Amino acid sequence: MPNLVIIGGSDAGIEAALRARELDPITDATVLVADQYPNFSICGIPYHVSGEVPDWRDLAHRRVEDLEAAGMRLLLDHRAELIEVADRRVRYTGPNGHEGAIAYDQLLIATGAVPQPPPIAGLHSLGPGDGVHMLHSMGDTLALTSYLAEHQVTDAVIVGGGYIGLEMAEALVTRGLRLTLLEQLPQLLPRTLDPQLATHVEAELGHNGVRVQTSTAVRSIEQLNSRLQAHGEGGRSWICDLVLVVTGVKPDSDLAAKAGARVGIRDAIAVDQRMRTSIDDVWAAGDCAETYHRLLATNTYLPLGTPAHKQGRVAGENALGGHRMFAGSLGTQVVRVFDLVAAATGIRCDEAVQQGFDPVTVESEVDDHKAYYPGATPIRIRVTGDKRTHRLLGAQLIGRRSAEIAKRVDIYAGAIHHRARVDEICDLDLSYTPPLGSPWDAVQAAARAWTKSVTQVPS
Ligand SMILES: Cc1cc2nc3c(=O)[nH]c(=O)nc-3n(C[C@H](O)[C@H](O)[C@H](O)COP(=O)(O)OP(=O)(O)OC[C@H]3O[C@@H](n4cnc5c(N)ncnc54)[C@H](O)[C@@H]3O)c2cc1C
Repeated sequence: MPNLVIIGGSDAGIEAALRARELDPITDATVLVADQYPNFSICGIPYHVSGEVPDWRDLAHRRVEDLEAAGMRLLLDHRAELIEVADRRVRYTGPNGHEGAIAYDQLLIATGAVPQPPPIAGLHSLGPGDGVHMLHSMGDTLALTSYLAEHQVTDAVIVGGGYIGLEMAEALVTRGLRLTLLEQLPQLLPRTLDPQLATHVEAELGHNGVRVQTSTAVRSIEQLNSRLQAHGEGGRSWICDLVLVVTGVKPDSDLAAKAGARVGIRDAIAVDQRMRTSIDDVWAAGDCAETYHRLLATNTYLPLGTPAHKQGRVAGENALGGHRMFAGSLGTQVVRVFDLVAAATGIRCDEAVQQGFDPVTVESEVDDHKAYYPGATPIRIRVTGDKRTHRLLGAQLIGRRSAEIAKRVDIYAGAIHHRARVDEICDLDLSYTPPLGSPWDAVQAAARAWTKSVTQVPS
């Protein structure tokens, strides 16, 4: 049986090791992890910072003992430094700086992503000890929570209005901080929502005391007495005790590139649907690699936890000689911001035009359940479909926390996965009881509105 070595012990790497051991309980699966936190749910970081999950250890998907009981060998605090392809060997630096090497028959690179900050003067000279933080790993999280515990922090600035910026805004407000959120583009969640829905997210943050400033790029950060000052364009500035920069990530692909693996979109490791890299017997999965987009039928870069898990599983199986294909991602995403939930799947109108579709987007407002039953709330849904073929291309939803937004976007995701036309959503046999839905569920009512808008009345 092959000796499988995995670099990276998060979603993709651990899924691969689990799958390999599940298929063959005598496979040698060794996971090199650069830090001490294997298999942590970094998606849960905002809920530890907020205090909703008080003990950070509870964010672990599985404990070290559980992983070892599954038969994998974990080398914690082991950073892979070099892949020697000709000798099938990975050189690493272990605890206390000791150097070593491990041989492989099959190698999976699952090094994930790293924060990609914008060019902000001062960012590289100031760090967590000064109150300037980034957030991707458990190490980053513990540095942030220590800083909050040990310093008098009353005002914070978040740079970046993507989903992590919004989740962290809620977390820091929950801890009692005064918060300003700065986004350089004209809207929040720019990669997820159309501006028509993003304005509702901005309003929800405003209702909860967050000062949101869009179209605002931070240019520099400096220390000012014992506080920090962030400067934007046009002479604007913000004085605070903590700056959190969460402006997106880039693939951690240097190791792979140095080994000669082809990198592609945004420097992510180029892979096929079997998760093969351009080097024989070297696989890649998760945020370090490209992602096959199911609707576009081409690779893209979508760093999310759900595809990372699936790709890891596919790579783990194939490294043992399997023929599994990664079915593809649609970028399906959901974020909760205070009492509001926003979700999206597929592509938006502007992306659809770029991809050669002839898209139409129709917005509807539909109650989450029968209006006569107490507590009904409106859901805004934007459905995008192709005018020529009526193929469903994307959907965006926004509604209250009680409105099952996450599960409703998944209905659209399932439909896109199976190449459905928009009107075929209406054929689905969905559940109904008045306190929870309607005979035509909200997702179906929105699909009907789209179909009506593009259907010519016969003359
Ligand atoms: C705050 C936050 C919230 C998120 N929320 C969501 C969400 O709600 N939904 C969602 O789908 N996604 C979410 N994500 C994204 C999701 O967490 C990532 O897409 C996912 O963790 C990617 O998994 P991965 O295994 O590819 O890489 P990562 O989780 O980045 O892990 C990389 C691993 O590689 C190790 N490593 C790196 N370099 C080396 C090296 N040279 N040697 C050895 N080990 C190395 C690291 O130590 C780590 O174990 C969130 C991310 C963050 C930061």
